[in-house]
Amino acid sequence: MNNETFSAISTASGYSGIGIVRINGKDALTIAKQITKNSNFSPKTATLCDFYDSNNCIIDSGLVLYFPGPKSFTGDDIIELQGHGSPVALQMLLNRTLELGSRLAQAGEFSRLAFLNGKVDLIQAESIIDLIHAESESSAKSAMRSLKGSFSKQITTINQQLINLRMFVEASLDFPEEDIDFINNARIYEQLQTIVTEINALLANTKQGVLLNNGADIVIIGRPNVGKSSLLNTLANEDIAIVTDIAGTTRDIIKEKIIINGIHFNIIDTAGIRDTKDKVELIGIQKAINAMKTASICLILIDETIGITALDLAILNNVSSNIPRIFVHNKIDLIEAFKPQLFAAEYANIEHVFISAKNKIGINKLREAILRLIGYDFNKTDVFIARTRHLIAVNQVVEHINQAFNNWYNLEILAEELRYAHNKLSEITGTFSADDLLGEIFSSFCIGK
Ligand code: GDP
Repeated sequence: MNNETFSAISTASGYSGIGIVRINGKDALTIAKQITKNSNFSPKTATLCDFYDSNNCIIDSGLVLYFPGPKSFTGDDIIELQGHGSPVALQMLLNRTLELGSRLAQAGEFSRLAFLNGKVDLIQAESIIDLIHAESESSAKSAMRSLKGSFSKQITTINQQLINLRMFVEASLDFPEEDIDFINNARIYEQLQTIVTEINALLANTKQGVLLNNGADIVIIGRPNVGKSSLLNTLANEDIAIVTDIAGTTRDIIKEKIIINGIHFNIIDTAGIRDTKDKVELIGIQKAINAMKTASICLILIDETIGITALDLAILNNVSSNIPRIFVHNKIDLIEAFKPQLFAAEYANIEHVFISAKNKIGINKLREAILRLIGYDFNKTDVFIARTRHLIAVNQVVEHINQAFNNWYNLEILAEELRYAHNKLSEITGTFSADDLLGEIFSSFCIGK
């Protein structure tokens, strides 16, 4: 058990019906007894008590829950003091625990301890925070899947396969005279093939998981008056941006959150791009150009009654090549007997969607195209939540596995690449993690978690 006892207010700050102070460590039970003047707490049973300060005045009354280690969340003794959700009463209760020998918990310390005591792996610890911050039902469910271990399980399976293969390869290197017929052993090649397939599946799942967790930024860009603000309003189902036929109305960036298929998006409506001398408008245009650089996807809006202009093409050329983009042809309601046109070769490799932002025509097609272009896989169900850290690591594992696969006949390179892949993969669940990585992860948690 941890030598130190620490405590924190574990519920969100502000006014609420109930608030919880959590104490962890060897003195947790003693402190609870002193605060409540009650000496009898049964494990995992709620006991109704008064909570006293050092002058024997009642601070609050509520429930005490006692979770003895090692079968607690952190593995240590934990006490929960559940009082009323008054910020002042909770602070007095916390102060009392500090007076009685506890110290204030650091950010993420409960979860960190749970990880260090082997109660959860790193992915599970992270998914607790992702569950708390989930912005849609899908991301909450996915975070729960990660917490229950579905992401970790896929990693452990691949890791076990890597271990088996490494044992064989290392043995062949260490004992060449034992005559392990390595090169001719078809199993090695097959095993590598299986690992390649599984790691690629893991990569696809991780990408989807990151999308669910981080969401994506949609930037709407185009000339003035093409209907950018109208499209923002239609996608958000609200009148957020001002719509007029006066060019240059949107001068600053307007952001709005929407959810499409469980993925949360920030839609960013930008100032119309045109040649202008208006200082404020110029700043807005510069902001629009900057927003394009960090977008997950750019919607280049076109007034279909005019068609694609030289300025639209100049805007397109400003979108970095790695950012997916859609030519969104708007105002089709103004064209009699409208038929989507086929485009010449210069536009053929760009996605085109035809809509009326005003009359809400083609909006579902646009939503579907957005999801597809940012890499959303419609066939995936039961997705677990993941973080950018995981995606970077899985990408690196894929690179090492590919190197191993391409050099499978060269024992030294194979052994080296498998070792890198194994270590990187273990870093994700935390079986092998540098201390500074742990510090970085847990410091982003809130206090009380
Ligand atoms: P922005 O300057 O690009 O943000 O364009 P707005 O959204 O402010 O729209 C400019 C004008 O075009 C407004 O008068 C809108 O009502 C009109 N407009 C926008 N979208 C459509 C559309 O799909 N059909 C029609 N008929 N008018 C539209």
